[in-house]
Amino acid sequence: MSTCLRKLSVLLLLLLALTGCEERSQRVSRSQLLMGTLVDIVVVAPSSVAEPAIDAAFAEMHRIENLMSPHVEQSDVWRLSHQPGPVTVSAETAEVLRRGQIVASESGGAFDMTLGRLKQLWGVESATPRVPSDEEIRTALQGIGPDALRLEGHTVYKRRPELQVDLGGIAKGYAIDRAVAVLRQSGVRHASVNAGGDLRLIGDRGDRPWRIGIQHPRQSGELLATLDLEDIAVVTSGDYERFFERDGVRYHHLFDPQTGRPARGCQSVTVVTDEAMQADALATAVFVLGPQRGMEFLRQNRAEGILVTASGEVLVTPGLQSRVHWP
Ligand code: ADP
Ligand code: MG
Repeated sequence: MSTCLRKLSVLLLLLLALTGCEERSQRVSRSQLLMGTLVDIVVVAPSSVAEPAIDAAFAEMHRIENLMSPHVEQSDVWRLSHQPGPVTVSAETAEVLRRGQIVASESGGAFDMTLGRLKQLWGVESATPRVPSDEEIRTALQGIGPDALRLEGHTVYKRRPELQVDLGGIAKGYAIDRAVAVLRQSGVRHASVNAGGDLRLIGDRGDRPWRIGIQHPRQSGELLATLDLEDIAVVTSGDYERFFERDGVRYHHLFDPQTGRPARGCQSVTVVTDEAMQADALATAVFVLGPQRGMEFLRQNRAEGILVTASGEVLVTPGLQSRVHWP
């Protein structure tokens, strides 16, 4: 063998050895119970990258839960409900409140983070849900609205001391965004963070877009549609998961602040936009606004979405139509 050829074969062997050492990307998936739902994180990366990244993302979501859960004693949201105010909160809770206030005022009060007392009254997600009297509803609505909270830096002033703050329509989205930020910082380039159907994607699946199933609001276990997407958030608000029935009427957990009763215009609203926090707040707001004003609100916010009306009609924003597949 000539010297030249010998050198070449050594080089080839070296190259082979090097590529052999490099870990291959794989699909790593983990689930944890968080914020009252099962959170699924899928990462496509070598497992030496994926495993620690997923651990860090779950730890971050637990941290947000401890700040914003109404059930964690002394959390920011717990104090916002139990203290007459003013209440000083973390920079992050202040930022979520500030972002929520924008959606609250732009939706004309359809999105409302001061419905804590009303939520308690109905107890939709409790062991003892009930239909309250008109008088009880009137009392629970006193003082609520887009101007009910005033933020000065990180200090929150309540219009009325008895107001109870509820971030149930926005905090999960924020937690998903934080998990995504942590995964990215850990070097992850392909991932999905899915909190019970509310999700955000990093990149694609590695070789093709992520395929996201949207639950049919009236046919349990059936898909309404699937969406091919990458690098975006998809959040759904529906009347089909958290509800109770009395005398054949469905009472769910998305309240119209004007009536103090479950909003009646939609069965489900799926919002597709960059950030999960924004998608979360918009989905709740659009559900309450109903089909006509809701679709207009999506357009104003440059968000895409799928809305199922109370009668079962399906509306899709123009920008999403090429991504939707029907079963
Ligand atoms: P889920 O938590 O089921 O994914 P959503 O994001 O749609 O649902 O939020 C529902 C939660 O939002 C309710 O449980 C309640 O805490 C809160 N909420 C209900 N009505 C409103 C409203 N009009 N504006 C803001 N938040 C609301
Ligand atoms: Mg929401």
